[in-house]
Amino acid sequence: MEAVSVKKWMDNVIKPEEVEKFRKNGKDFINETSIQEKLMANKQPEKQRIREIIAKALELNRLNPDETAALLNCTDEELWQEMYAAGLKIKQKVYGRRIVTFAPLYISNYCVNNCVYCGYRIGNQETTRKRMSMEELAAEIKALISKGHKRLIMVYGEHPQSDVHYIAETLQVAYSTKEGNGEIRRANVNAAPLAIDDYKILRDVGIGTFQVFQETYHRPTYQRLHPSGLKADYAWRLYSLHRAMEAGVDDVGIGALFGLYDWKYDVMGLLMHTIDLEERFGGVGPHTISFPRLQPAVNTPFVEEDPYLVRDDIFKKLVTVIRLSVPYTGMILTARENAAIRNDVINVGCTQIDAGSNIGIGGYSEETLDYNRQQFILGDNRSLDEAIRDMAKLGYITSFCTAGYRCGRTGNYFMEIAQKGKVHNLCMPNAILTFKEYLLDYASDETRNEAEFLIEQELAALPSEQVRKSVSEMLNRIENGARDLFL
Ligand code: SAM
Ligand code: SF4
Repeated sequence: MEAVSVKKWMDNVIKPEEVEKFRKNGKDFINETSIQEKLMANKQPEKQRIREIIAKALELNRLNPDETAALLNCTDEELWQEMYAAGLKIKQKVYGRRIVTFAPLYISNYCVNNCVYCGYRIGNQETTRKRMSMEELAAEIKALISKGHKRLIMVYGEHPQSDVHYIAETLQVAYSTKEGNGEIRRANVNAAPLAIDDYKILRDVGIGTFQVFQETYHRPTYQRLHPSGLKADYAWRLYSLHRAMEAGVDDVGIGALFGLYDWKYDVMGLLMHTIDLEERFGGVGPHTISFPRLQPAVNTPFVEEDPYLVRDDIFKKLVTVIRLSVPYTGMILTARENAAIRNDVINVGCTQIDAGSNIGIGGYSEETLDYNRQQFILGDNRSLDEAIRDMAKLGYITSFCTAGYRCGRTGNYFMEIAQKGKVHNLCMPNAILTFKEYLLDYASDETRNEAEFLIEQELAALPSEQVRKSVSEMLNRIENGARDLFL
């Protein structure tokens, strides 16, 4: 594409009035001074106070910024152990012992931005650029379906070649491609911020969640790490999910890239973001929170010199504080982390993982691992089957359920049932049913043998006798060849 037309496209993306309308008296919901003051004011919290905050979180109440700041400042290891246990309890209350699983699908890596930490940045000459054709995409999707996947996160660089019309077309291909018994039932998107009318285009083709990570909420750091391109506009990104919700995309996913700035500050930023969305949209906060940790990328020296890299023990702490602060929101733990860390951190309250991931464009159908086509380097290269087996050993049933989406159980309605801790008689049965389908259609013998017991165990644990009976009947029908059954 010619430089002139790229520039012309860029000139028309950002609409300042779609930032301004969400500001309160011209001010952003992120106030650096106020966040730093809260972190200072809640230094050295008393034991008793931390325990009261944990108790509040266990009642599934969202914490306020002072409370989150106190947890972040806790230095007592015994209290951290109590927080880890509380994280798991909250997760069990809201979600049960199930993990939702998805695959990341990188579709185009042309990008006009220059994020210093990313392998796809425009200035990186060593990246092999590729945008998938619809035929190539269908081949990728078939490869994913044949492994058992039913959910995707589709990822794009920011470029006129991957504008909203291209994204909409790729979503349609994702939903219409079939393979054997399988299909993609939920396609989420991680892409650059859009304008309200563009979000409506994605809403109309049935997008799942729209994710945008703020990377860091600390404005001076943000400006330094995003020196040029559209992403240099902090506020356009800050309100991207406000615009999505206004456009009727019910489920939005926020996130921060940990390792760019002080981890405590960015956890506070995620909380402020959650609170502002709740205040604006009738109590509905983000559907998911992501907490990717910075990874090495090809020809990206920034990562090696970065002073804010987050250690493993700190990573577990920050995930725990997010869990306690926003008890009802989905939390995504990605394959950026290695298997050992994932198997540990999953126990402090994560609800979703990707598995069998390949983030080189075209990598699923070609079965290749080409670092020059990757945005960063993955830590967990287990296959979907292996990851599911490991999750089963930890006592987790892997859910491929997307019924919440198809029944309109998104946004406000989902938050209501999640906030009331009522997911058990809806989501757990569907998790059991989709897990049964997976074990029959896709699992290796080893995984089937290791994981089958979970179906009996979770069936017996369903609180309602009526639901237990229906699920049991449906399991028999699945054994006899029926598919896609859900409550
Ligand atoms: N290009 C779009 C954007 O930046 O919003 C969409 C997707 S980007 C490909 C997905 C996310 O990957 C980014 O938001 C960032 O948080 C994360 N990321 C970028 N470089 C990374 C790295 N070196 N290690 C880990 N995560 C990274
Ligand atoms: Fe482009 Fe996204 Fe990478 Fe930034 S993080 S360079 S916007 S692909």
